[in-house]
Amino acid sequence: MSFAYLYDDYNTAIMSERVRVRFAPSPTGPLHIGGTKTALFNYLFAKKHGGDFILRIEDTDQSRFVEGAEKYINDALEWLGLIPDEGVKQGGSYGPYRQSERKEIYRKYADQLLDSGWAYYAFDTPEELDGLRTKYEAEKKTFSYDVHTRRSLNNSIVLDEKQTKKKITSGESYVIRFKMPENVEIQVEDIVRGNVKFNTSTLDDKVIFKSDGLPTYHLANVVDDYLMKISHVIRGEEWLPSLPLHVMLYKALGWDRDMPQYAHHSLILKPGGSGKLSKRDGDKLGFPVFPLEWKSPSGEVFIGYREMGYFPEAVINMLVLLGWNPGTEKEIFSIDELIHAFTLERISKAGARFDLEKAKWFNQYYLQQQSNENLAVLYSKDLKKRGVDLGLSKVEKIVDLIKERAVFVSDFWEQSCFFFVAPDEYEEQTIKKFWKEETPEIVASCLDIIKGMERFSSTDIEAKIKNYIEKNEFGFGKVMNPLRLAIVGAGKGPHLFDIMEIIGKEETITRIEKALKTI
Ligand code: GLU
Repeated sequence: MSFAYLYDDYNTAIMSERVRVRFAPSPTGPLHIGGTKTALFNYLFAKKHGGDFILRIEDTDQSRFVEGAEKYINDALEWLGLIPDEGVKQGGSYGPYRQSERKEIYRKYADQLLDSGWAYYAFDTPEELDGLRTKYEAEKKTFSYDVHTRRSLNNSIVLDEKQTKKKITSGESYVIRFKMPENVEIQVEDIVRGNVKFNTSTLDDKVIFKSDGLPTYHLANVVDDYLMKISHVIRGEEWLPSLPLHVMLYKALGWDRDMPQYAHHSLILKPGGSGKLSKRDGDKLGFPVFPLEWKSPSGEVFIGYREMGYFPEAVINMLVLLGWNPGTEKEIFSIDELIHAFTLERISKAGARFDLEKAKWFNQYYLQQQSNENLAVLYSKDLKKRGVDLGLSKVEKIVDLIKERAVFVSDFWEQSCFFFVAPDEYEEQTIKKFWKEETPEIVASCLDIIKGMERFSSTDIEAKIKNYIEKNEFGFGKVMNPLRLAIVGAGKGPHLFDIMEIIGKEETITRIEKALKTI
């Protein structure tokens, strides 16, 4: 196993032991496929190294909480087969796994930071801060609560101990801010991005504990990663700006040697390549950006891969290649092959464009891999809705004949409706091309042959009709094309004699007779 290193002030390399990774979504809405990719990468890495894949729900921001989102996350992971080893549903020895149930844990660490001088109380009201922002903006500057401004603001750095205590005991609302040191050079080795350098002077004093008594994402995230013994943090690049603060929190809490290794993977881009694939793109561009359908609390519905007819294997295969490069030409990967091949080092830095055609290509492949029995079960549900109730074994035969060209099970109907309903129209251009003067006579002869048959299997019909064609020295198409038109109503469909066998002798006769009358 290869590890990247964190260099602390003394440039010592630190390695962690058991692989423990977490997927840590905030339940602020449905899981986006970008987030799903994060879950997948974490899962693959854990499984590859015989480690643990943990699901932690980061719900400390109560204002952004969305009803149903947590269930959605669990359902989506389940559908994709990315089952956590530890999590809100599974439990585990590092729980609870929902941050809102860990409230009591965080305050202690905020206090530790206050006591050691790494944090301070800030009493500035939201209105005061807004006022400052506006004032700065008017001067074409941006206000930042940081090393340059903190001394002129309302906080425990400026106030003496007595004044601070008085404010707190009198119930004045406060937050706790991290006191970012001035001019410290930090370097972190990100497994994907390489050496990430930053200077603390460019960073602000982030709120780590809020007035509602809950930690912010940053503190809770770092504390939990530490307490849950997370070895690697694999997450999207949108969290890269948070990395410096997280590194500093590890230092401030005295946990540098237990800091996980970081791997920030790239975003999934719009098909055109410009910008991140957003929630609205799916509906705008006609493809899902969510694994499952999502009904928002306000009643808005977003389509999901599952409901569109994608197989979970196809979604996994498509997703993994949006940002991970196997280093070979191979594109089709089973989950076991992925677990075997996956490495963090092969995650690409550049964003990958979503490609709808590729997604469909994967689905077509995985559809072909399904057993006919499974496909028949799926198709039967669709057929029932259309009022067709056919035995599973017949549907299985039909599916076997038509599946090759289908991308989704929902394509089956278009390619096989003629098995269930006789054509009531005949394709104009096919008539023009194949229904000639002598055709009715030929078709009538075929009808007689069919009527006289006892056994009615595809091979029996084929033998008899071929025999007729050869005897009369006709071209094959001269007979077959009009027959197909009579049975299917168009020039499409699988092997004609297979269709005849499945619809049966009686229906075959009825359709041919009807065609002779109508065309
Ligand atoms: N709660 C963060 C999110 O919603 C987690 C980021 C991280 O993995 O550190 O994605």
